[in-house]
Amino acid sequence: MLMTVSDIPGVLRVGDLEVAVSVSDRRKSVRLTVERDSSITAVVPSQVSKAELVKMVEAKRPWLYGKLAEKRDLGRAAPAKEYVTGEGFRYLGRSHRLRVVDEGEVRLIRGRLELPRGGGARELVGWYRRVGEPWLAKRVRPWADRLGVEPSGLTVRPLGYRWGSCSRGGRVNIHWAAMQLPPSLIDYVLVHELAHLRQPDHSAAFWEIVERAMPLHDGYRDRLRRTGNDLWLPEEGR
Ligand SMILES: [Zn+2]
Repeated sequence: MLMTVSDIPGVLRVGDLEVAVSVSDRRKSVRLTVERDSSITAVVPSQVSKAELVKMVEAKRPWLYGKLAEKRDLGRAAPAKEYVTGEGFRYLGRSHRLRVVDEGEVRLIRGRLELPRGGGARELVGWYRRVGEPWLAKRVRPWADRLGVEPSGLTVRPLGYRWGSCSRGGRVNIHWAAMQLPPSLIDYVLVHELAHLRQPDHSAAFWEIVERAMPLHDGYRDRLRRTGNDLWLPEEGR
């Protein structure tokens, strides 16, 4: 039996791309769009098969990557860092000076970020992940309650140029680089992903959920974009 798009659940995965699919009987051809927040949507006529749609997304991959690169709001103008005493690293919106120490592991102590000699991006990214997970696990609780969702887990990890993602099983992933943001903007990233647990696409219904949970979110989107542009995002952590 031919599988048509009406059998595709809201989100279609093609490699590392996620496409939110909606069906419109008025459309004669597929319309693929990269939205402002870097999500990809496809509006398709009802008779398109899933295989056809996958093939089309694959063919458009270079174009999609180009668009995503243009819209990405994370690490675009990120300055390179040196792993020497005095270099600044942000955590929860504050800048901390690096201090190279002889031994131990990366830690934030008395406002200084200690890095064992010889360490670099890999060790620092590992630290952001290590401290980020328990911090977010606590932070997510009141928001999850407010939104009436129960995430099945929360992971802090590299996510390319995306702030966050969530799986259909209810797992929320947050980019480790987001730990550089001030808490209010991290909340905005969290709320966005939690809202997806109720509404997978970026429809009006989705933004209504965000709005209700976070009525003052309006300026956050732009702030996130501006701040995100110059967050540190080394290759080792993408
Ligand atoms: Zn989203």
